[in-house]
Amino acid sequence: MKNHQKKIVVVIGAGPAGLMAAEQVVLGGQDVHVFDAMPSVGRKFLMAGKSGLNLTHSEKFDQFKFRYREKSEFLEACLKDFDSESIRTWVHDLGIQTFIGTSGRVFPVDMKAAPLLRAWLHRLKSQGVQFHMRHKWIAGDEDKLSFMTPEGLVERHYDAVVFALGGASWKRLGSDGLWTKIFETHQVRTIEFQPSNCGFMVNWSNYFREKFAGTPLTNISVSVKRSNDENLTKLGQFVVTERGVEGSLIYSLSADIREKIRIDGFVDLYLDLLPGKSAERVFSELNAPRGSRSLSSHLRSKLGLHPVHCALIHECLTDEVIQNMQQLASFLKALPIRLIGTCPIDEAISTAGGVDFAELNHDFMLQSKPGWFCAGEMLDWEAPTGGYLLSACFATGVAAGRGVTNWLSAMNKTEDREKIDGDEDV
Ligand SMILES: Cc1cc2nc3c(=O)[nH]c(=O)nc-3n(C[C@H](O)[C@H](O)[C@H](O)COP(=O)(O)OP(=O)(O)OC[C@H]3O[C@@H](n4cnc5c(N)ncnc54)[C@H](O)[C@@H]3O)c2cc1C
Repeated sequence: MKNHQKKIVVVIGAGPAGLMAAEQVVLGGQDVHVFDAMPSVGRKFLMAGKSGLNLTHSEKFDQFKFRYREKSEFLEACLKDFDSESIRTWVHDLGIQTFIGTSGRVFPVDMKAAPLLRAWLHRLKSQGVQFHMRHKWIAGDEDKLSFMTPEGLVERHYDAVVFALGGASWKRLGSDGLWTKIFETHQVRTIEFQPSNCGFMVNWSNYFREKFAGTPLTNISVSVKRSNDENLTKLGQFVVTERGVEGSLIYSLSADIREKIRIDGFVDLYLDLLPGKSAERVFSELNAPRGSRSLSSHLRSKLGLHPVHCALIHECLTDEVIQNMQQLASFLKALPIRLIGTCPIDEAISTAGGVDFAELNHDFMLQSKPGWFCAGEMLDWEAPTGGYLLSACFATGVAAGRGVTNWLSAMNKTEDREKIDGDEDV
């Protein structure tokens, strides 16, 4: 087989998905150029490291894949190819050790993103990947891509391109979602972005908001009715905010909450403030003699409730209900809080929406644009926090990068065949 000239592969977007695609393609022996609109790479990845970089999750694959909801079927093959074990091995190869937390989440030992990103960039550069920052992609056709730079318009020829342009939250870190307009001009269907892993609005009273914004509610169970009427219940914690509620427990329910709000305009969450106690036990403890103590101090001393719980009870129930121990006991096990909207998309940890999977083949290439591949959060999937976001960004980056290598080698074979046919004709 003859030696082929290296092909030029452009990766647009220097987040985890783009860098992973670049790594795969350069290992396949191509000339790789990474472009990004921002002055430096991986800004959202670095932000993720500020609160403890959760790289992936160690749970069994059968459970893991369903975190991607209805998109798990499409993503399954790539998630399996680059699973949580592969992610850990890849991180260890960069000289960074990892550990599994009690919840099964996987972190680098120092919890940070910066040392990992530094080691990764060093390796990519030594493999020959070239970086072009402050290049905002603004248009593209079959043989060239156009970028706006501080020096003006720049055009680059390419053989294949991987788009890894991110979702539409935290715009100041680069992922502004504006690329959907360019994709639309190429008739590539995108689904409208929506906040995922986001906070929700509650109409708190001024008193409750001023006194309790920022207060966590720990060891609480939350139930919500899904749009198919199924009841979803989860245990965990969340935080009261100025505008409503946010935090890991709320994030893990955010797709279902968002969908119910879309359909009905609101959704009621039912909080079990005492998940470790049965309704009967709560009732009998509430009914215990309390002497001259107020109800609040009785709730605190007998049931272990905190001031925020007591204020929440007053926020959500009428005085009449609160004075009726039978009714109060049942509400302590199912206290309704009405959520009336999502917090702004720009504040969300991640977004749902983006390139419709129907546009892609299984190598993550756009069916209508041969040579155009996509990876990462710009695709229409969503998952809860817990390392699932980065896992899918890495896995789709690997899949798109391998897809490019396979596609280019198929092109080389076609060129060889045409050359042989041409020579035989002579
Ligand atoms: C506060 C916070 C904490 C998080 N913590 C975690 C966590 O612990 N674990 C986890 O799994 N996930 C976490 N995430 C989510 C995770 O960071 C993202 O899902 C991930 O970064 C998405 O990767 P990506 O490569 O697809 O896109 P991005 O990281 O968003 O990168 C996209 C890149 O494309 C560039 N770009 C966009 N448009 C253009 C254009 N037109 N031209 C050129 N360049 C362009 C952007 O500048 C950006 O650099 C967190 C997110 C946030 C906001």
